[in-house]
Amino acid sequence: MRFSVSTKGFTDIIDITPEVSDIIKKSKIKEGICSISCPGSTCGITTIEYESGLIEDLKRILEKIAPMSKDYEHCKKWGDCNGYAHIRSALLRPFLTLPIEKGRLVLGTWQQIAFIDFDNRPRKREILVKIISG
Ligand code: ZN
Repeated sequence: MRFSVSTKGFTDIIDITPEVSDIIKKSKIKEGICSISCPGSTCGITTIEYESGLIEDLKRILEKIAPMSKDYEHCKKWGDCNGYAHIRSALLRPFLTLPIEKGRLVLGTWQQIAFIDFDNRPRKREILVKIISG
């Protein structure tokens, strides 16, 4: 299954838990594994307590690790000045695997699935959800 998300880019962090949960519900699977991925090298998928304070904290920490303003070899080589976005994606990774039990995703009470678009422009992203029974 796939669904799409419109983003603002520049480390736009979006809660995709409702979309993924809905796909699992419709699949009628009871026990298994769910793989969520974003085909692309400038996006990330992780889990976080999705509240505005932490969303801002995550953005600040990522800005320290891979600043947008820094000079990247990628920009010199390709003129494509989103080196920071590729580095952030490599660190956070554009995929996530979660268990499914009793027909539901296994997540903590305050834990949500966060899709992050690091790219330096707004984008429409396809998110792929694969469910394996077992
Ligand atoms: Zn690039």
